[in-house]
Amino acid sequence: SSGPPPPVEHLSPADLFIAVKTTGRYHRQRLQLLLDTWISRNMQQTYVFTDGEDKELRKRMGANLINTNCSAAHNRQALSCKMALEYDTFIKTDKKWFCHVDDDNYLNVGSLLKLLSQYTHTQDVYIGRPSLERPIEATERLGSTETVRFWFATGGAGFCLSRGLALKMKPWASDGTFMATAEHIRLPDDCTVGYIVEALLGASLIRSALFHSHLENLGLVSDIHNQVTLSYSTAENNRNTVNVKGPLSVNEDPTRFRSVHCLLYPDTAWCPSPWRL
Ligand code: UDP
Ligand code: MN
Repeated sequence: SSGPPPPVEHLSPADLFIAVKTTGRYHRQRLQLLLDTWISRNMQQTYVFTDGEDKELRKRMGANLINTNCSAAHNRQALSCKMALEYDTFIKTDKKWFCHVDDDNYLNVGSLLKLLSQYTHTQDVYIGRPSLERPIEATERLGSTETVRFWFATGGAGFCLSRGLALKMKPWASDGTFMATAEHIRLPDDCTVGYIVEALLGASLIRSALFHSHLENLGLVSDIHNQVTLSYSTAENNRNTVNVKGPLSVNEDPTRFRSVHCLLYPDTAWCPSPWRL
């Protein structure tokens, strides 16, 4: 009657491959905050994909820092180059689930494990939050003049793929083909994932309201404990963060991610009282 369905598969953190997309200029601005919060508790399964070497970050992350040699530009090619490497790196592991997040996402790994354990990693699973109300339309380059319609999970809210589905994506995603597929439909990396899954493989996006990007009003998110991802925007004219009260002021914690982390893990050494009692 209430509550989530029972788990069908037992999952542990080691079953996850978590890819974080970032870029050189955000190492200090964004990634540091993630390292201080959720990544610190999930170092083993978190892989950071960036575009420039960083000695400090390398010291902290070792081989889990992946320098893609993709361009640091914010264009379709550069971004799909990173997604392609996230995918290829996952395929080489034996992990059951691939999850992608941006460097402005807080990932609650406990909630994620609860969610994914309701599915079977050998089946076709693509789960996240659609960014649009309607399916996107794409015109394929060359070939037919017909448009294809499909749903995709917005990268800015994070999404996951089961290993079973990821393996089926190989012809259009592995070893450089992902970039060619993105060029074929002239759409960003997250749309390209949706295109491969829905339009080419005939699987369907599972919508989850537990994933959040800063495209939605984050002030309306309640029940922080059970959300899978959160995000923020701290643009001066357009602040958009979750509402977490507590001793950390907006000045000390503009993104509210530190407060979220203290809410979830009150025993964290740097969390002030009354979280840490
Ligand atoms: N990003 C990147 N290269 C860039 C700019 C951004 O890899 O040149 C990454 C960034 O680190 C983040 C994601 O792309 O993980 C989305 O960037 P951002 O949050 O700035 O943009 P938006 O959410 O508005 O798309
Ligand atoms: Mn963003």
